[in-house]
This record gives sequence, C-alpha cells and structure tokens, in this order.
Amino acid sequence: MELSPVCTEGISTDGCIIKSDRAPRKSKVPRDVEVDIEFLHKAVPQLAKVFRIVDKIGEGTFSSVYLGEAQMRDGSRERFALKHLIPTSHPTRIAAELQCLTVAGGRENVMGATYCFRKEDHVVIVMPYMEHQAIVDIISSLTFEEVRLYIYHLLKSLKHIHQFGIIHRDIKPNNFLYNRNSKMYALVDFGLAQGTADTQIELLKDLTRLSKVPRPVFGEKNLNSCLPASSTTKQAAIMTELVKPIKTEDPASRRYSSASRGPVAVRSQSQKPQRILQQGLTCNCYMTDRVCNVCLSRKQQVAPRAGTPGFRAPEVLTKCPNQGTAIDVWSAGVILLSLLSGRYPFFKASDDLIALTQIMTIRGSRETIQAAKSFGKALVCCRELPRQDLRTLCETLRGRRPSPDDEVTPLHGASKDSAQHPKIPDDTPTHRPTDGISKQHEGGVGQTLSNHPENSSSKDASTRLDKQTSEVESSERGWDRVPDEAYNLLDRLLDLNPATRITAAQALQHSLFKDL
Ligand code: ADP
Ligand code: MG
Ligand code: ZN
Repeated sequence: MELSPVCTEGISTDGCIIKSDRAPRKSKVPRDVEVDIEFLHKAVPQLAKVFRIVDKIGEGTFSSVYLGEAQMRDGSRERFALKHLIPTSHPTRIAAELQCLTVAGGRENVMGATYCFRKEDHVVIVMPYMEHQAIVDIISSLTFEEVRLYIYHLLKSLKHIHQFGIIHRDIKPNNFLYNRNSKMYALVDFGLAQGTADTQIELLKDLTRLSKVPRPVFGEKNLNSCLPASSTTKQAAIMTELVKPIKTEDPASRRYSSASRGPVAVRSQSQKPQRILQQGLTCNCYMTDRVCNVCLSRKQQVAPRAGTPGFRAPEVLTKCPNQGTAIDVWSAGVILLSLLSGRYPFFKASDDLIALTQIMTIRGSRETIQAAKSFGKALVCCRELPRQDLRTLCETLRGRRPSPDDEVTPLHGASKDSAQHPKIPDDTPTHRPTDGISKQHEGGVGQTLSNHPENSSSKDASTRLDKQTSEVESSERGWDRVPDEAYNLLDRLLDLNPATRITAAQALQHSLFKDL
C-alpha cells in the first residue's frame, strides 16, 4: 500500500488513498464502547470520512485505541488501529511519539504509522492493525520455542530502535504485540520514549531540551512519596521508602516523618555523611535505615522514572540520572523471566521500593547494593536476600521441581534454603499461572499456596494423574529441555549493572539464537 505523508491538520480528500464507508454499523458493541466511538467521531469528525470505527481495542491512561475499517482505492477493505491520545498530552510529546513511529517504525518488528489526524487538541494516530493475543491469556500454553522466538524478535526491535537512539522506556508484553498464528511481532507505544544523547529523532532532542515533559504517572506512588501508615501489605510492613530528597521541593515528601522505618533506603553517594546543610543543621542518618528531618527537607532528586514498576531497571528505580538504552534490555529480561517461569506479571509492585525489594529477592540484595554503588547510589537493606539460581527458580515456579512439603515459608524473610526453593503450586492445566512475585509480595508464597486446592487436600490419585498429564504436556511444549543458554541469556539481560548489561545487538548474537 502506498503511504502518503502523515498529515497533522486533518486529511485532504485528494491526499488520501482511503475513503470512507459510512454504512451503518452492523456489529453490536457494548453501549459504553458505542458512546466512546460517538465521542471520538465528535472530537475528530474527519475520521468518519475515512473509517468505519468498529470497536475499541485498548484503553490506557494516556490513550484509547480503536479498530477502524477503511475501503481502499482498489476496493479492498483494510483494518487500522486508531490511537486517540488524551488531549492533555504535551504537543511535543505527541509529535515525538509520531516521529518514532514514522522514522524507525514499519520494519524490524516496530509498528509504523500510516496517518495522523488532528482537530484542536485531539490527535489520532493511525497505524496498521495487527491482531494479537495478550500474553496473560496464552502464557500457560506457550512452548519453549515460542518463548525463544518471542524474545529474539523483541530484541530485534530493541536493537533497531536503539540504533536510532530511542529509549522506549515502557517495554512490557502489552506494548509488544504478538500474533501467535501468523508469527508476527510489533513494538508499539512510544508515548514514554526518550532520546539518547545522540538520538536521530529530532523531536526526542526537543523533548530533552524542553526539560522533560513526562506523561503524568497516575495510580502509583513515586519513590519520594510515602507509604500510607496503614499499609497492610507484607512489604509495606517490612520496608519503607526512604529516599533523600535532593532537587525539587515536594510537599508530599514532607508528610514523611522520622517515624518511618524500614530495611531499604536509597540515596545518592554524593550525599556525604555528617554533611552540614545550609541551615547549619547536621545530618545524622547516613547509612542508617532512617531519614532524618534535615534530609527530609532537602529537595527531591529528579530523574526519569516512567514505565511500569515491575519492568523498571534498578537504575530507574533508584533514580539514576543517566539512563540509557540498557533500561529496555532489563525490561526484556523481566519478560523472559516471566515467560520461562510461566508467571505473569512476574514482579508486580505498586511503587519503586517494593519493586527494588522484589528484584533483590531474585538477584540478591548484596549484588543489588554492589551494582547500585557502581552508578552512584547507596542502598541500605537491613536483611540479606540471597541471589537465586534462575533455572531452579523458573523450574520450581513451573512446577517442574518438587517443592518442600513442610510448612510454607514466605519468600521474603525465608531462610536461605527455603528462599531458594519457594513452594509454588504445580503447573497443572487447571492452574492459571499468573502472578509470580506479585502474589508473593501480597502475602508471601505461602498465601499463593494456601489458596491452591492442592495444598489443603492430600495428594490423591486424581492429583497424581493431573501431574502426569501436565508432565506430558510440559514435555511436549519443550519445558523439560530448556537449554542452559536460555538461563545464561536471562542472567545477562538481568545484569543489575547497566554498564555491563548485554545490549540488544549483542543478545541477538547469543548462542541461544545461533540457528536464527
Ligand atoms: P497506551 O499508550 O495507552 O498504552 P498503546 O500504544 O500501548 O497505548 O496501545 C494500547 C493497546 O492498544 C495495545 O496494548 C494494543 O493492545 C492495542 N494496539 C495498539 N496499537 C495497535 C495496533 N497497531 N494494532 C493492534 N492493536 C494495537
Ligand atoms: Mg501501552
Ligand atoms: Zn539525614
């Protein structure tokens, strides 16, 4: 199909290769979707000249995505995804998203843009529609080979955008579309993208110049905000957010009192102990698990921290100011961990310090502290969490390894032994693997188990049968012969230190992909 340049003012009939087909809608959609479609038609009326909007396919904090059909000049009908951005998005932000799609997209597993419509502050980006399955729906039936190919293609898209100096910043399965039947892959959503120092995307440079115009992050707490005192989650109980405010004043951080205590704290290494502040007050909290009132009155450190907590790299979670393309590689590692263990989402954290603690439970607290030191952050953790063997972890979570039969111990605070062999329900066909560490952090692995019927009843004949069936299925799906290379690559993607972390280009050369 011939592409005309993206037009930002609306579409002119002669510049346009597709035309409208305003036949009345046949397919029935729920009433609320109908209302949304009507709203979109009112907001951007020129869409109706081109598309029959048939359904809503995505709804996020920053956009709604619709399925539109258009009659092509040759008489064929084609489907498009129409991404309607929230009107409050900064114009440069929107233009940068569009430029990523048009400059880097359309090849190498990266989604391209076909058109863009605008009326006043309403912008709709038109992309080719790609049918896809949600990972959460298919994770329990994926074969190892599919996982290997999925990661290969994800890395391919990352190598490509990284060559353009684009940091995606929101790599997660929802933004990497996968069509299982046609084996198609597409990286979408450049709504949080940023440029490297030498980016080829002009508008990403502008974005940096504009002193950062991040999308507001709703529904999650900032590292410098505080946990509610009444927070009941396990981790909220064992840890508190203790980040030294450095740059900007945030009244919210003042809500925090010295009553806050916990095992994890992050601060810049440049913050010297016993430092005399302007007010002439001495800080006495350095390398303790407290933040003193002197430090609480400091300004907050500003660093990009967009994305989804469970996929954020340690350097993002600790607000390291110089972040690069390695942050996307970390997120790809979290996806691989999720797919190998059959748990999605793997990490589910409501804020950055919980996310950091969850990383420590897998990669080790000492190792995390060491890595943070390399990028200038001092991490304090009052409890040592051992690094886990990735194969053991994934096979246990898949139910391929026996778990101890004794009393279940939560992963956090577990003894060295039981932490390395968390007791997890079997990957039986009846069990829908979803949350990995997410469940565990709500109430430890024990909670996950006690909810599982198999745990309460003794293992009878039918359970054994289930197990045999699941073993056969698992073997058919290749999970009984996952090569060491897969765990080696996982270890390299989840390198806590961004400076030594494998790059997407290097990862494509990994021996796991030697035949591709
Ligand atoms: P947001 O910024 O709101 O997350 P995305 O660009 O990620 O917006 O799109 C949201 C969802 O819409 C995606 O997760 C995907 O399911 C769907 N989607 C986006 N682009 C396309 C496309 N080109 N084809 C099919 N579905 C798409
Ligand atoms: Mg998205
Ligand atoms: Zn202090």
